[in-house]
Amino acid sequence: MPCRTTDELNELVDEAKKYTDGGKVADYIPALAKANPEELSVAIFHDDGTCVSAGDIHQKLTLQSVSKVLTLALALIDYGEEAVFNKVGYEPTGDPFNSIVKLEFSPSKPLNPMINAGALAVTHMIKGKDAEERFERILSFIQDLAGNSSIGYSLEVADSEYETSDLNRALCYFLRQHGVIDEDVEELLKVYTKQCAIEMDCLDLARIGCVFAMDGLEPVTNRRLIPAHVARLCKTFMVTCGMYNASGEFAVRVGIPAKSGVSGGIMGSVPNRFGIGILGPALDEKGNSIGGIKLLERMSDKYNMSMF
Ligand code: GLN
Repeated sequence: MPCRTTDELNELVDEAKKYTDGGKVADYIPALAKANPEELSVAIFHDDGTCVSAGDIHQKLTLQSVSKVLTLALALIDYGEEAVFNKVGYEPTGDPFNSIVKLEFSPSKPLNPMINAGALAVTHMIKGKDAEERFERILSFIQDLAGNSSIGYSLEVADSEYETSDLNRALCYFLRQHGVIDEDVEELLKVYTKQCAIEMDCLDLARIGCVFAMDGLEPVTNRRLIPAHVARLCKTFMVTCGMYNASGEFAVRVGIPAKSGVSGGIMGSVPNRFGIGILGPALDEKGNSIGGIKLLERMSDKYNMSMF
């Protein structure tokens, strides 16, 4: 899809890049350590299919935690709200995404679907006869949302995370002990690490963001891809928990539903207007893209994006 580059967006990207110096790429998943911390790119996808971009938007990123919103949507479609929220709660934690602390105090279910424990419980629910079929369903749902059947996953990143997943493994065993999940932990980790390694560019990400911005309608054709109440529910979690334990400050400074991942990706949805896809691998101490957040702050001012 052709994407127009504008001087204005280029200037915002150049300005935001100045802040990325102290940032570090995620290296607890060894394959992610290869990312270029200097990179910053953005695509904006409008509901009429037009798009603007800046930076190298064809650079690929793995979804990491951005995938948590998408599996939540699929689980809600598969099972409905009551069943899903039997397994995960609605509340932000104020703790890092991989924290185990609050699980001990609310062992019956993880506090929300955007922390790792909650996302693992959601992935556990995805229908399919085995790990392979469950992952195929997630991938094909995401391909539909992006309107791009060539989207796949990085075997290198998936394997790299699977081999170093001891913390997520521990979360799974905790969940199994408390009856939140009842499957083989390794099977679940296989699906989860592949889902996190699904690979796309900023344009695909912006287009998915636009589907959520339009309450589940595919841009251009207006075909319904996600029920409206599911899209709205997902956007609510993006506002309250999408930027991990920095979601409050992000709501104040940017004011849009967004979800970040440790690859440096951010997917944003400006309600009824457009979707945003960003890649900026230099992360702050909470695991969010420094350049990405700066850029969104500038964009929010310039394009009057805040919903509040
Ligand atoms: N795959 C990563 C993990 O589970 C996703 C985390 C993230 O992007 N915050 O650790």
